[in-house]
Amino acid sequence: MKIRIREIRAKGVLSKTGIPGMRYCINPYVGCAHACRYCYATFMKRFTGHAEPWGSFTDVRVNAPEVLRRQLRRAEKGSIIVSSVTDPYQPVEAHYRITRKCLEVLALYDFPVDILTKSPLILRDIDIILKIKDAEAGITITTDDEKARKIFEPGAPPVPARIEALRRLHEAGIRTYVFIGPVLPMNPRVLAEQAGPYADSVIIDRMNYTERTRRLYRQYKIEKWLDEEFIGGVVSELTDRLGGKGHCVVL
Ligand code: SF4
Repeated sequence: MKIRIREIRAKGVLSKTGIPGMRYCINPYVGCAHACRYCYATFMKRFTGHAEPWGSFTDVRVNAPEVLRRQLRRAEKGSIIVSSVTDPYQPVEAHYRITRKCLEVLALYDFPVDILTKSPLILRDIDIILKIKDAEAGITITTDDEKARKIFEPGAPPVPARIEALRRLHEAGIRTYVFIGPVLPMNPRVLAEQAGPYADSVIIDRMNYTERTRRLYRQYKIEKWLDEEFIGGVVSELTDRLGGKGHCVVL
């Protein structure tokens, strides 16, 4: 898909969030080229005047690092997630480096920082993540199966690249977690074997996204993955296999 990129200026980038355990979120971009078919963040189109399909535009908040620095000076302490309604390491970040510059600012302040992405581009920033006193990096891995990834996350990096990113973050000494959400068609044993050794903790979130994607399940004849009981069994297997590795939370 062709992505339309636009530079914009933001008034604020450190926003309050309702995400459990987090006080703030930082979104360096508006929109997300990963174009996940289940994406929960498409509501952002309404707030930002975009009529284009989700995944076909990215607005770059070019002044995000300066604005963040100003906001952090006055902000009460609290955990920050990067990001919540965009992926901070979507392709445009390779050029603009807005996420990296925001992390450089965060390293000067004493806020716990949680970075969540689907992209191995995060590896570029290991040096700066190590400078943040209390940092954790999460990689979203929703399946072990590239066929499923291509159906549901057409613009996002391949699964093996994400597992490799998790491994390298872990081996660099960064606290890591794997975020399994939503639970896409997968082999839970394979996913647990591949990701488990490199995750200090695990979050499994079934997410209520099937209304958006039901048509795809029919089209690819994978409707059994819509069955609540069946998914429940997959989540139990993931929990059994990953629970022993560390902290495993099921949302
Ligand atoms: S990576 Fe996250 S924000 Fe981006 S499209 Fe996928 S679900 Fe949405």
